[in-house]
Amino acid sequence: MNYSSWRRLRVRLALALALWPSSLLAGDSTLVPSTANNQVPFSFVQMCDTQLGMGGYEHDIMTFKLAVKKINAINPDFVVICGDLVQNANDKSFADFKAIKAGFKLPCHCAAGNHDVGNKPTDKSLKRYREIIGKDYYAFENKGITFVVANTQLWKAPLVGESEKHDAWFKKTLAAAKAKNSPVVVVVHYPLFTKKPDEKEHYYNLPQPKRQEILDLCEKHGVVAFLAGHTHTQITNTYQGIQLVNGETTSKNNDNRPMGFRLWNVDKQNELRHQFIKLDPIEIGPP
Ligand SMILES: [Zn+2]
Repeated sequence: MNYSSWRRLRVRLALALALWPSSLLAGDSTLVPSTANNQVPFSFVQMCDTQLGMGGYEHDIMTFKLAVKKINAINPDFVVICGDLVQNANDKSFADFKAIKAGFKLPCHCAAGNHDVGNKPTDKSLKRYREIIGKDYYAFENKGITFVVANTQLWKAPLVGESEKHDAWFKKTLAAAKAKNSPVVVVVHYPLFTKKPDEKEHYYNLPQPKRQEILDLCEKHGVVAFLAGHTHTQITNTYQGIQLVNGETTSKNNDNRPMGFRLWNVDKQNELRHQFIKLDPIEIGPP
């Protein structure tokens, strides 16, 4: 299947999904085909807002440890954490986060959240994050799929000297993936929108015109999924065939969802499906 017919198929499927009853869409799995070729199947995990200190420091430490244990047992190729690693960014919380993260027996890729680098990131907050946690924007490839980890704080509250560089990198990275015909999964903290692409700016989305610019770039460059956290509410949207998914946290969920994470599977036909994996309350035990 060539690129334009694949694109048309994706748009048709997105329309079909949009017409489905919302009860079906609220389930665990969404299906959006990508390039139909011989993809090597694999799985990865999307964690959101480990946010040590939001649901109670000891609680969040315990649930993060349980998630690490459970993810190691599932043994996906890697895990991504969609930002807000900690509630209050300081030496202790970052050290505690890193100590638990070190328990992963597989690669763990982190995105920076507003609690990690500040609602308005500064040179100082970015420097601290980069020194302690690592890069705040980067890309990696897994079995032909490009994962682009971006720093949405630099879109939400632009910082002179940083946001321009980040934007140029984002465009260049998407263009490089497209040139290789590699489908892209974007991993970030802020979702682009929560209900509608043209909704007004609020605490849980990104401002215009940046939001539309990113949506257009994603559409143009073969982005198949856009994974975010921040909302503490499970949200599944689609935009031009792109799956936009906010997962459950391990700290505190505002929609009464259980603690847990999303397990994504990429199959031979390059279809991406995700399902919720709950942290069993029995595992958590009595308080
Ligand atoms: Zn957040």
